[in-house]
Amino acid sequence: MSFFESRDPVFDGYVLDNAPLKQLAAGFDWVEGPVWFGDAGCLLFSDIPNNRILRWTPGSGITTYRQPSNYSNGHTRDREGRLVSCEHGARRVTRTEHDGQITVIADGFDGKRLNSPNDVVVKSDGTIWFTDPHYGIMTNYEGYAAEQELPCNLYRVDPVTGQMDAMVTDANCPNGLAFSPDESRLYVADTGRLFSDDPQHVRAFDVGSDGDLTGGDVFYVVDPGFADGFRVDTDGNLWSSAADGVHCISPNGDLLGKILVPELVSNVCFGGRAKHELYVTATTSIYRVSLNRQGTQHP
Ligand code: MG
Repeated sequence: MSFFESRDPVFDGYVLDNAPLKQLAAGFDWVEGPVWFGDAGCLLFSDIPNNRILRWTPGSGITTYRQPSNYSNGHTRDREGRLVSCEHGARRVTRTEHDGQITVIADGFDGKRLNSPNDVVVKSDGTIWFTDPHYGIMTNYEGYAAEQELPCNLYRVDPVTGQMDAMVTDANCPNGLAFSPDESRLYVADTGRLFSDDPQHVRAFDVGSDGDLTGGDVFYVVDPGFADGFRVDTDGNLWSSAADGVHCISPNGDLLGKILVPELVSNVCFGGRAKHELYVTATTSIYRVSLNRQGTQHP
């Protein structure tokens, strides 16, 4: 039985019938934050409860990149290729310099500590955008249980000037985020609060020339499950995590098809020689499937 579930004929052209959904590695506890390093030919990802960032390399398999990782969650790369990481444990966003030094990008707002930065993207102007839900301080499983000091906002930081702004303040629990290829739109997942019936959807904001956000209507309701993290392909389709796998959603918000994955998916990223491979972090395993699509140039 195929693990592709088409909902629109266009999806049949996005997938390759003879490409397997391959389990690359297993045995983790909760994996997240995949990011591709083409220059190093490897994938980095977080195994959050085990407080480590792991590296998967074709041929060598799994090695440890950083442990402890301050319970790192989401990662991306900035426009100079440097790793940018969300750290639940230290309640901050950091950048790993080319020489290995770690620079703190943000650890507070308005005189209060951040909650537990979850996911991050970098815009073409170098500004760093990240979400700060409270998941990592709710329990000791994915960080250190602590009191919440700030609402669950989405922030933008200019790493040159240090200017930091709360850009989305009306979300419940903002989680994954991604810009459309032309950066005219910002997608933000809201995963609601745990143990409640609060919203599980993706919102779409219009991005102005100075980065200001307007709109924010519901773009896609995730069912089953929730959109934790996602990435965008060069045609603007959103490839989003969901409880039954990965959903491919058109720029109009239509479900085009699914990749059914046997574990709960947390996030995806494009990688490989032509950014035509989709790497999937799913609970205890890493999967990969080749597509007839390509991810945007910057993860
Ligand atoms: Mg997340």
